[in-house]
Amino acid sequence: MEIKTVKGFKDILGIDAILFNEIQKLSYNIANAFGYKLIVLPTVEYAELFDRSVGNTTDIVEKEMFTFDDKGGRTLSLRPEMTASVARSFIEHHMETNPMPLKFFYFGQCFRYENPQKGRYREFYQLGIEALGDISPILDVEVIQIALKIIEHFNIKNLKVKINSIGCRVCRPKYKETLTEALKPHYNELCSDCQRRLYTNPLRVLDCKKEKDSLKESLPKITDYLCDECMEHFEEVKKLLTELKIPFEVDNTLVRGLDYYTKTVFEVVSEDLGAQNALLGGGRYDYLIEDLGGRKTPGVGFALGVERFIEILKARNYKIPDNKKIYIAYDKKFSSTAFKIRDSLIPDFIVEIDPKGDSIKKQIERASRREINFVCILGEDEFSENSVSIKDMEKGNQIKVKIDELKESIKELINNA
Ligand SMILES: [Zn+2]
Ligand SMILES: [Zn+2]
Repeated sequence: MEIKTVKGFKDILGIDAILFNEIQKLSYNIANAFGYKLIVLPTVEYAELFDRSVGNTTDIVEKEMFTFDDKGGRTLSLRPEMTASVARSFIEHHMETNPMPLKFFYFGQCFRYENPQKGRYREFYQLGIEALGDISPILDVEVIQIALKIIEHFNIKNLKVKINSIGCRVCRPKYKETLTEALKPHYNELCSDCQRRLYTNPLRVLDCKKEKDSLKESLPKITDYLCDECMEHFEEVKKLLTELKIPFEVDNTLVRGLDYYTKTVFEVVSEDLGAQNALLGGGRYDYLIEDLGGRKTPGVGFALGVERFIEILKARNYKIPDNKKIYIAYDKKFSSTAFKIRDSLIPDFIVEIDPKGDSIKKQIERASRREINFVCILGEDEFSENSVSIKDMEKGNQIKVKIDELKESIKELINNA
């Protein structure tokens, strides 16, 4: 029997792989420029970590985890998201002894046992940032700003931030009570999950895809129940966003599907992509580290789904600023010189050497089937003159230059094109 990929898993190939790499590289560079440092975390954690952080009445933990016992009898999960792991790592390595805030960037695969559909797989990649150890609304806005910066870098415009505040331990319990009361008359309209969660976690109704928008919009708004501290924090975030001219709108139905969030939650949407399409989401989680046994340490971050982003970029025909491709066609006698020439051109250009080294004509023919920009020809004549001929594959013309001047000559040809 032919062995294939497992249901919900996939290979990332061709243009997808190129975009994958580009997203990873650019997002890291941008986050790094804001002072966020790379953190690389294990894909497997104790299942309990996600029970206690993401929350055991969320869809993710109730239905979507890859959880199993290993041979040592440990109950483990493939991580369904990364923030809980960042928090676990923070506690485990006593990072609270560092000057705060600590800022991290991550990029890695997560796993959720969902029904596979387009752009949604059981193994998927997320990139994101976390800023830990500071309560200031400045950081909420910084995180949002970095998120926008990354997306804008890929030429997606007309971005808008949807924000909400979901309060804290002081103000949320009262809102939950009010919400439960408001939902009781609608009990029969609710899906079975929401009926079950009505008394334990009524906020989940607000992000349940099965419930009607008209119902959600008729419910009491959490921003009417915020305590002074949460209200002040939310006002400060909105004020800064306004001053920075970052377009935003308050969406009181936005709660995000994870229990650890507090105060600010947000999503970024683009009008270019249709209003319901969130590109990424995030928020503040001021109790997460404390709930996992660490010292009280607030945090804020966002996560972006890489596969969906790849699909969006492909649909929009995103062109990666390309490195020109060069092919070296040469007389077999001069193989080592061909290698040296390639060495002098890397990493400014993508350079391939013809593996066969047969007639130069045939090599140029092969190059013409490989989207090559320039062929560097090293034949008898060129070798005797310490030169290389550069053939412009688009225009068809050819010039001869000294080997030492090859790199600069190619750059000139590109600039004058
Ligand atoms: Zn509060
Ligand atoms: Zn529901």
